[in-house]
Amino acid sequence: MSETDGIVPIDLVEQEPDLRGVVAHLYRSLNSILARIADREKTLFAQIREMQEREQVLSREYAREKSLVQRFQEFTAMLELIFSLSTEEQIGNAVVSFLHRIYPFATVRLISAANSRSGMKVTAESGDLAFSSRTCTMIPLECMAIKLGKVVERSLVKDKFVCGELSGMKEVGGHVCVPLMAEGSIFGNISLFFPGSGEISGREDQELVGMFAAHIALAIWNNRLMRMVKRDSLTDQLTGLPNRRFVIEAIQRELERTGRYGGTFSLAMVDIDHFKRINDQFGHDEGDRVLLFLAETTRQTLRKADVAARYGGEEFLFLLPQTGLPAACQVVDRVARLFYEGTRGPVFKAPGVTFSAGLVEYPADGNDVGELIKRADTRLYRAKQLGRNRQVSGAE
Ligand code: GH3
Ligand code: MG
Ligand code: MG
Repeated sequence: MSETDGIVPIDLVEQEPDLRGVVAHLYRSLNSILARIADREKTLFAQIREMQEREQVLSREYAREKSLVQRFQEFTAMLELIFSLSTEEQIGNAVVSFLHRIYPFATVRLISAANSRSGMKVTAESGDLAFSSRTCTMIPLECMAIKLGKVVERSLVKDKFVCGELSGMKEVGGHVCVPLMAEGSIFGNISLFFPGSGEISGREDQELVGMFAAHIALAIWNNRLMRMVKRDSLTDQLTGLPNRRFVIEAIQRELERTGRYGGTFSLAMVDIDHFKRINDQFGHDEGDRVLLFLAETTRQTLRKADVAARYGGEEFLFLLPQTGLPAACQVVDRVARLFYEGTRGPVFKAPGVTFSAGLVEYPADGNDVGELIKRADTRLYRAKQLGRNRQVSGAE
């Protein structure tokens, strides 16, 4: 090759050090870039791992919150239901089957305590653990949940504590007892018994059960109050017999039943003779005792299906279903004799008390409650006119 070609040959030997430097430089740069990339990659991986862990924690929390919200919604629906039930037994059954559904491994019992010394009754129960009876062996004074008035939670595996109810029951591993309290009274508990080493899952769960128990207690309390108010409004305070309101409703029901299915029923309006004299001569308390004795006599004499009510002061009304006048007269006669004999005894100051009665029969004597009672009253008045201590059941 000649110079005239315009091409200058490169002295490779002379150029070599620079090229190496460049390559070395490039190599170092590349290494440092790679190191930085690796660093970044490490940081990124660490961040990704952290984010993944955070995501896992969050999704666990989310799942827990979601299940708590779901459980809370179920609890709320359940509470609405139990406030609409009419008997304590229905409430108990609804509560235990609900809790058993939430805690399928547990045996759930709703236990009620009448007073601090008498035994505790299992109102409702659901689950597999074999308790020997429907009565809790504890008395309220021994029950920790009732004594402390707060939730008692024990793992029998970890803790030494053993509820007396569980002695000898090896299959029970833990239990949670929540007292039922309302208006300052503790009247039972809800017990969850877990087999093996099982325990109630979390604090939130325990809080929910505690909160749930507070509402159940209120529902049961409410139910008792309502029944008490209803019973009081239909019961005579002195004698404990049904009152006028109750018997009128009962006659109405009987009238509808007999009207539909046929047959008959009788009414007897009973009024104590010269009762005012008893009060005047022997005092109001003696009068009350005579009223109580007549109530007791009717309780002993009348059949279960019959109703004897205190209709007013010293007036009583008997409703005798599926009974015609002749049989009704016999019943009233028996009550009259027992009442007279009883009040003649040494227990009473009054010397043998009698009563008069007016009897009617459905449908022969009337087609509605008002008509029947009016006619019975008229006959009673007639019995008084005829000299008292008798019954009138025919034409006035
Ligand atoms: P008759 O034979 O005509 O029925 O006369 P009576 O004295 O029984 O009837 P009257 O209606 O004159 O008197 C009824 C009395 O019953 C008057 C009232 O003070 C009394 N009485 C009403 N409720 C009670 C009560 O709860 N306890 C007591 N001790 N007396 C009562
Ligand atoms: Mg009277
Ligand atoms: Mg009277």
